[in-house]
Amino acid sequence: MNYNPSIDGQKTTLLGLTRRELEQFAARAGQPVYRGRQLFEWLYRKCETDFSLMSDLPAEFRQRLHEMASASPLSIIRRAEALDGTIKLLLETLDGHKIEAVAIPEGERLTACLSSQAGCALDCRFCATARLGFKCNLTTGEIIAQLFALEAVNRRRMTNVVMMGMGEPLLNCEAVFKAVVLITEPTGIGLSHSHFTLSTVGWRPGIEALIKAVKSKSMPGVKLALSLNAAHDDQRKALMPAASRYTIDELLSAAKEYAQISDMPVSITYLLLAGENDALSDARMLAKLAHKYNLKVNLIEYNYIGDIYRRASSTRSEAFFLHLKNAGLIATLRTSRGTDIAAACGQLAGTNDNNNNDDDDDDNNRFE
Ligand code: SF4
Repeated sequence: MNYNPSIDGQKTTLLGLTRRELEQFAARAGQPVYRGRQLFEWLYRKCETDFSLMSDLPAEFRQRLHEMASASPLSIIRRAEALDGTIKLLLETLDGHKIEAVAIPEGERLTACLSSQAGCALDCRFCATARLGFKCNLTTGEIIAQLFALEAVNRRRMTNVVMMGMGEPLLNCEAVFKAVVLITEPTGIGLSHSHFTLSTVGWRPGIEALIKAVKSKSMPGVKLALSLNAAHDDQRKALMPAASRYTIDELLSAAKEYAQISDMPVSITYLLLAGENDALSDARMLAKLAHKYNLKVNLIEYNYIGDIYRRASSTRSEAFFLHLKNAGLIATLRTSRGTDIAAACGQLAGTNDNNNNDDDDDDNNRFE
């Protein structure tokens, strides 16, 4: 074997490579290309990242793998478990960036909420990740490694994946789209594409890239959740200054086009903030938009992060929800999960602190 793993002093991270790339890696390591297919099987089908246990590879090749490659690019720093069974992991990349990933159990369903970036360049006012600023885009391997870490600590496979953790997925399209392909590859991890949701604050160029990728069949269509949080542009600008570079109409028309091309559902997520966007007049405007673009609405509870916002009261949330239902929309009012370990929407800050939730509204009803 002439492969020199230390040309740049770096080991090759295998997680995140496609079957074809693993074949090329095997060839560069002086092995027959089918060894690459065996690696694909071990990594993605059997979810095995310990080279020593890849029993159908020759012992000598396994030894070489230890020297020149690493399977997973993340290590688990801390784990926290909420009273409702939600588990949050604090993970560290090889570059020392801290990110978080969350597993949310709900009956038979176990949903992995994955991060796409360390920190975030956008500045949504209600979000703990925004305070970190942007650190880096995560690689495909780092995205998939979060899934595997959650599966390892939960000792079971995830039934659903949502990219709603730290960062804006559509500002890291290349790595995220490749992760979608690998996670939904039927001969690999094999998650159904209809169980995968990409969430965006409405980065229109990213939605256009998504449309292009699905149109060209370079990735399967997945569900899209558009984090709108406002029913008119001025309100959205105050809550999400960077994301409001595009008007609500521009975003929703792009989302509608994506729904038509992918044949996958697109939903609006709307964080209910007391006195900001929870009035019935807001519900009326939101209902109009949802009807116009034929979108489902998910209302979500705000989780306090020590800022100026407060969760909408149960009474106002329910009135808002009922208005949408009475307007003939498909709508849900979601309960926050993992709030006691700061694992809920908007709370991920790469610290695993448990103390940024002192909101005393403990209403856990869920409406559909
Ligand atoms: S809500 Fe999402 S896009 Fe906005 S700052 Fe937080 S992580 Fe970034």
